Amino acid sequence: MSSSRPHVVIIGGGIIGLCTAYYLLTGPEPPRVTIVENTHIAAASSSKAAGFVGGNKGWHAPANVELAKLSFDAITDLAAKLDGASSFGWRLITTTGVKVGNQDKMSGYRTLPVADAVDATSGIGGWANGEKVVLINEDTGVMLPGAFCARIWAECTAKGLATLIATPTGRVGKTLNTTEGALQFDKLLLAAGPWTADVCETLGLSRVPISSLPGHHIQIKPALPEGMHVLPDESLFCGIGAGDANILESIASDIPDYEEGSWERTQGWSRTVEFFPRADGNVYAAGENGIPKTIGDRAADARLNRLPPTAARCRAHVDDELVARLVRAAKAVSPALDIEKGAKLVEADLCYRPVTPDKCPIIGEWAEDIFVSSGHGPWGITLSAGSGIVMAELLRADLAHRKPQLSADISLLQPHRFEPKRAAKL
Ligand SMILES: Cc1cc2nc3c(=O)[nH]c(=O)nc-3n(C[C@H](O)[C@H](O)[C@H](O)COP(=O)(O)OP(=O)(O)OC[C@H]3O[C@@H](n4cnc5c(N)ncnc54)[C@H](O)[C@@H]3O)c2cc1C
Repeated sequence: MSSSRPHVVIIGGGIIGLCTAYYLLTGPEPPRVTIVENTHIAAASSSKAAGFVGGNKGWHAPANVELAKLSFDAITDLAAKLDGASSFGWRLITTTGVKVGNQDKMSGYRTLPVADAVDATSGIGGWANGEKVVLINEDTGVMLPGAFCARIWAECTAKGLATLIATPTGRVGKTLNTTEGALQFDKLLLAAGPWTADVCETLGLSRVPISSLPGHHIQIKPALPEGMHVLPDESLFCGIGAGDANILESIASDIPDYEEGSWERTQGWSRTVEFFPRADGNVYAAGENGIPKTIGDRAADARLNRLPPTAARCRAHVDDELVARLVRAAKAVSPALDIEKGAKLVEADLCYRPVTPDKCPIIGEWAEDIFVSSGHGPWGITLSAGSGIVMAELLRADLAHRKPQLSADISLLQPHRFEPKRAAKL
């Protein structure tokens, strides 16, 4: 292939950067593509997320609805093409709301698509406690996101993707300087997740309004109930309250005052937790989104930007108290997840969601020849393939100086919605 092809450089080798590279390299007129990643491929939340993919509009803000549908269909296609079941643990799952201990709120940040019927029978799929709330179960699946990223990266590399492990240090015009040398680009894409605003600053651009929301998660190898060999393909969105004496007793029988702050952190439990039985046999649980006490790197910064400087530093900030809250919540929801009854805690980690002020991603041109795709919040795995498709369409059209024809309406995701004056001039 000729090196006179235009060159797209992507900063950030998470799921968003990788999917964009994939659709650039597998679409018409593929440009040269280089990913510049400062840690390793999928070093951050893209490999640490639960892997839930919710394509139904009921899960999404109106601005994301078309993108979510496009993305679900694209992930389904990728699973068919790349043997997703074995290469990245792809499987369709049902979703169920569960109220434990009279807790009505069942998700910390997602809108659950509650169906009309409410089934009050306790015993969910034979493995969990609580009152069942029926959710809309169209277009929902789960993957192992780290394995998905590895597979997409391998596909891209086979199509000519170059990967540079380096940190960008500055920019002069269309030259990106990095710790491993300079790269000339025709178009630059910033896809560094919660670090995207910092990258803007390094490159002399105004900061995109992207901050970070930390999230701890655990993985438990369940102790399966007798006669059950595998957990059902069922994810649970649980609200866990204190309205049931049995729950309180099962979590901590000697509660002095469960509302009191310090007790709450050291002895309490996570109130809204999502549970995903995954293809590797483990159950992934997340929903503890407090700022870790252990944060040290930038303690002086504003609350929402207490982000370690690189993905490699995130694990050092895992907060045992927040992990313990998830462990107690798991125990309240299912005896199969009780580590005092034979279940095993196999992973406890922390990662950061990239978030925007209106909770929707930023996808589009930020400065001349410089694009952004980030801020996907709790939906980056779900929206990954769709975001890759539309960003590849935007970049390809820009390289060819033509108006883009996009596969999904992303007009409400434009970067300059946060800068009305600048948007008016476009
Ligand atoms: C606990 C938890 C569970 C989640 N579960 C789900 C789920 O089930 N479903 C779902 O849809 N979403 C989920 N998410 C959200 C999802 O994980 C994120 O939205 C998504 O991974 C963001 O992808 P990204 O590529 O934008 O960013 P990231 O994954 O953060 O990747 C950014 C990459 O850029 C690199 N980088 C950073 N700075 C630089 C730099 N200066 N130079 C070069 N490279 C740099 C990083 O090392 C990293 O590899 C979850 C998030 C959390 C925290």
